[in-house]
This record gives sequence, structure tokens and C-alpha cells, in this order.
Amino acid sequence: MGAWVFTGYRVQHNKARGPYKGGVRYHPSVDLDEVKALAAWMTFKTAVVDIPYGGAKGGVVCDPKRLSSGEVERLTRRYTAMIMDEIGPFKDVPAPDVGTDAQVMAWMMDTYSSLKGYSVPEVVTGKPIALGGSYGREEATGKGVAVCAREAAKKIGLRLKGATLAVQGYGKVGYWSAEALVEMGCKLIAVTDAGGGAYNPKGLDPRGLKEHERRSGSVSGYEGAEGISNEELFQLECDILVPAALENQISEEVASNVNAKIISEGANGPTTPGADKILYEKGVVVIPDILANAGGVTVSYFEWVQNLNRDRWPLETVNARLEGKMVSAFKAVSDLAEREGVSMRTSAYMLAVGKVAEAQSQLGLFP
Ligand code: GLU
Repeated sequence: MGAWVFTGYRVQHNKARGPYKGGVRYHPSVDLDEVKALAAWMTFKTAVVDIPYGGAKGGVVCDPKRLSSGEVERLTRRYTAMIMDEIGPFKDVPAPDVGTDAQVMAWMMDTYSSLKGYSVPEVVTGKPIALGGSYGREEATGKGVAVCAREAAKKIGLRLKGATLAVQGYGKVGYWSAEALVEMGCKLIAVTDAGGGAYNPKGLDPRGLKEHERRSGSVSGYEGAEGISNEELFQLECDILVPAALENQISEEVASNVNAKIISEGANGPTTPGADKILYEKGVVVIPDILANAGGVTVSYFEWVQNLNRDRWPLETVNARLEGKMVSAFKAVSDLAEREGVSMRTSAYMLAVGKVAEAQSQLGLFP
């Protein structure tokens, strides 16, 4: 077998508020501009939920679905070795993102620890529980997406019981958002992924659908459901829409056909700037990514704190603290939006940029 060459990146955007923090993406469409944008979003996301981190992101151009586990392991170890001097528990702390998971984090931790000569669990978050991962990290992003949707529903007087839900993307974020919202009383009526879609106005079982997706590789073909395209999903008459796939899914054209009342952004950057304006003018409540999906990095922070203290919190503690962080961040963003008469995205940035700028100017410039 010849040597394979992959291209990988780690971008560090800002560290005024603490060590760089952000996931690592394995996907064929990764490029430097995307990783830069994702790193900047992390800076503002950690500021919105007020955790002491900056922002960073990593990515490797590859298709993990077409690689064997051994190939993903070797790629991960080489990538980690190559960014060895750039990362560290007080410098830059990677985590999972699209195409990576707890196993990839275990290999990153092991490579870093082996080269250091001692165990350093706090160098990455989103690890398996056995290696110092936190209870509740796997489902944290989806839970946060759901908590934000619930708070928005309260504000507009929408009852969650029986509220209809459509989800784009059924990976970690899409699945756990659906689980959490169905538990709150919502009815999941449509899901799409890269391989197709499933639609059933009587309701889909999120767990059954996930099992089907694990077995067959897609939500498409689920028992009792009709097929549905992305385009149709975005146009559905539904209460809550969760885009949980990749960037730029809701374009201006898509936005003008959206019939949802609330959009809770599970993905990073799913809505284009032009579409965002259209949705605001239509009165759709858009909970921006840097708030809606911040539950993941929040529990990453809890994991890092537990690792540094060589401690383990019970699941109830993690969930209660996550809930507290998300509810107060939602309130801060939504109160400011009302006071200033702007969208929640604008107010989230007003808060976040303000916090980063304050930290930056108090630090001053050295040398
Ligand atoms: N990749 C996730 C995000 O975009 C999580 C990052 C983290 O936990 O550091 O927020």
C-alpha cells in the first residue's frame, strides 16, 4: 500500500477569553476558508455562553464514511502529531465535530499523551466515558438546541405539546435534538439526511429512525414513512425547524418558502446572510447557531473542568448546569434583541463581540 496524503488544518481565531477551543471536522468539503469561519464562530459561541475559552477549529479533507477504522485511526494520529505543538490543555483543546466522534478523541488523547510520556485527558473533550469523557457530552448539543427552541416557544406562546418538528441532518446533533424535543412533547414529522428523507405527519419515533439509519446508512426507507427531499422539508408547514447538517443550507430562495415558526440552528452557519434577513422580515424566530448549538462546547468545558480536577460529575449535575447556562444565555440574547429591536443573531453578536473586545482591551498589548 502506498502512502496516502491528506490535507489538514487547525485554525486559531482568538484567545482573549481563554485557551483556543473547537472541534475537528472530517469531511470531503473541508477547506481553509470553512475552517477559518468555524474557528471564528467558536470565539463568539464561547463568549455567548460565557465559558472561559477562545475559538479554534480543525479539519481534514477526507470522507470518513469511505475509510476503514484503521485508516481513520492512522489519519487521526498523524494529524495530532503534526499539530502537537499547537494544542494543549491550556493552549488549544480540540473536540468532535462533523465526521469525528469519541473514538477519534480517544486516539487524539492517546497520541498526545504518548508523545508527552504521561496521560493528558484534558487535551481534548468529547472523549469516551472510560477515558475521562463527561456524562451528557454526547447529547449536549441537541439538548441545548431543544432548550433554546422551548424558550423561544414560551416567548411566542407556542405549546410544545403536539408542536410539529422537522430536522435536517440525523447525525449526533440532529438525532439528539429530535430526542429532546420529542421528550418535551413535540411531534417529529420529517427528517432528511445525505441519503434521502423520511416523512410521516402522524409522527416518527426518533430512536427507531436512528436504529434504521444505523443499519441502512440513511433515514430514507424508514417503515411507514414517505420519502421527502431537503427542499420539501424546508417548505413544510411546521412549528419548529432544526437545520443540523452543514453550512449555507437555507439560502434566500429557501428562506422565502419557509413555513416554520421557530428555527433552532443545530449546525454552524446553516443560514446565509441574505436568507437571515428574509426570515427576520417574515417574523420567523431564528435562534442563531452561536447560541442554539452552544450546549456542546458548554459540556466540553464541564468535561475539561472535571479532568483538571480529576473528578466526575453525575449526569444530573451536568444536565442541570447545561440547562442553567443555556437558559441564561437565551434570556440575555433575547432581552437584548427586544431592547435594541434587532434579530437574535444581531444581539448574540452584540453580546459576544462586546465580551471579546472587553477582554482584549483589558489584556492590552504585549510586548
Ligand atoms: N464542534 C462543536 C461546535 O461546533 C463542539 C466544539 C467543542 O466542544 O469544543 O460547537
